[in-house]
Amino acid sequence: MTSATATPLTLVGAGLAGALLATLLARRGVPVEVFEKRPDPRRRGYEGGRSINLALAERGLHALRVAGLQDVVMAQAVMMRGRMVHPLGGDSQLQRYGRDDGEVIWSVHRGRLNLALLDAAEAAGARIHFNQRLDGVDFAARRARFVDDHSRRAHEVDFRALLGADGAGSGLRAAMAPHVDLGERFEPLGHGYKELEIPPAADGGFRIEPNALHIWPRGGYMCIALPNTERTFTVTLFLPQQGDPSFATLPDLAAARAFFARDFADALPLIPDFDADWTRNPIGQLGTLRLQRWHLDGRAVLLGDAAHAMVPFHGQGMNCAFEDCLALDRQLAATDDLAAAFAAFEAERRPNAEAIQAMALENYVEMRDRVDDADFLLQRALERVLADRHPGVFVPRYSMVSFTRVPYATAFSRGQVQRALLVEATRGLASLDQVDLGAVDALVRATLKPLDLAGAA
Ligand SMILES: Cc1cc2nc3c(=O)[nH]c(=O)nc-3n(C[C@H](O)[C@H](O)[C@H](O)COP(=O)(O)OP(=O)(O)OC[C@H]3O[C@@H](n4cnc5c(N)ncnc54)[C@H](O)[C@@H]3O)c2cc1C
Repeated sequence: MTSATATPLTLVGAGLAGALLATLLARRGVPVEVFEKRPDPRRRGYEGGRSINLALAERGLHALRVAGLQDVVMAQAVMMRGRMVHPLGGDSQLQRYGRDDGEVIWSVHRGRLNLALLDAAEAAGARIHFNQRLDGVDFAARRARFVDDHSRRAHEVDFRALLGADGAGSGLRAAMAPHVDLGERFEPLGHGYKELEIPPAADGGFRIEPNALHIWPRGGYMCIALPNTERTFTVTLFLPQQGDPSFATLPDLAAARAFFARDFADALPLIPDFDADWTRNPIGQLGTLRLQRWHLDGRAVLLGDAAHAMVPFHGQGMNCAFEDCLALDRQLAATDDLAAAFAAFEAERRPNAEAIQAMALENYVEMRDRVDDADFLLQRALERVLADRHPGVFVPRYSMVSFTRVPYATAFSRGQVQRALLVEATRGLASLDQVDLGAVDALVRATLKPLDLAGAA
């Protein structure tokens, strides 16, 4: 972008993606005005509303590095080496995510991360207007209307282009819909979630292993727990909305307690404020948002959850949104033609967003139903062996998604080839030493080319 285009870009939403994109643009000298519907969390406390902590992986970390925020964020992150699986009535077991502590993910606090990003955006020169909800857009006049939901005052802003980082319920998306066929489809998962808390132990330490993402898989549903720096864990129950068991069969606290005492007997004693948490915390909704189109010529573009909200089971929604920010910033830097930049951004990112949406849905089944299955564990063991025997060629799908920046679409398609190979090589077998490794090696060489790690955007 040149100085000829010094009119500000107007960003809607100062959540995770909005604040990061504002930082990246402002750092390049692009004037940015950001409008956020919530109050300034630095004054009023964070009104996050959902998922207290998030898993940060290499893609998100890379974006934070580019924005100069790695140190500030990582100072408050807790390492998660793998899944600590708690089977019903069995012993818990750590399944490492990667080869060593170089291949881990991190638990970060959503509110604190957002504050760090807001500070960075303002320090870089972005102007953020809080209590400003996008309420309507006159695209012909290039004028947007914002409302302060507290004072009920409205005002209008002229814009060059609107960049929509206003989340799954995007107001910009709703405003664009009458002007361009977005091909919008929302697929509810049919499962909701509720958050609970494991406080610190009496001695102030963590009550369970801190450096893991805990999973209590129960077939059709599960609990997970992510650590916080305060030595607490945020527990999330994922459960169908209907059927048995479901949120519908837990109409009151007594039913919820009985359900936990039966199905999560080892977790319940860790949650002393179960009654208050259950009563106070809402049931969150989950689903996949699919759009065929992310932009309206050069006047508006969507990114992050506004363009491709996904179910949270790969822990990649924010990571993907951060990759969007880098991509959109790069496309905007390459040309003054906003329509061309938005189209190139969409072409680059939409196939990748669709791939991670699909992988996130698949991961729900894996987490709640497969992590304690014998055939799954054998396939995983073989996956490790093949990763060692074919470095840079056979790279487990979870690793491609979490520890590299190879495009999600590449991880998805290679993952399908690898999965078929693992299933075939272990069919009918009970242990790793029965696998014909020579034959599998030949198959790997025949079906997989070396992974282009350097080509990652
Ligand atoms: C239970 C759960 C767990 C998750 N866990 C993970 C995880 O472990 N790892 C991971 O990477 N991702 C995770 N995610 C996904 C992640 O939360 C989202 O992908 C991420 O927040 C998307 O960022 P965003 O900036 O696009 O949207 P948001 O973070 O939703 O931000 C949108 C912002 O826009 C503002 N806004 C909304 N409407 C308007 C309007 N009309 N006008 C002005 N402002 C507006 C909002 O107030 C908000 O500040 C999880 C999600 C859930 C629900």
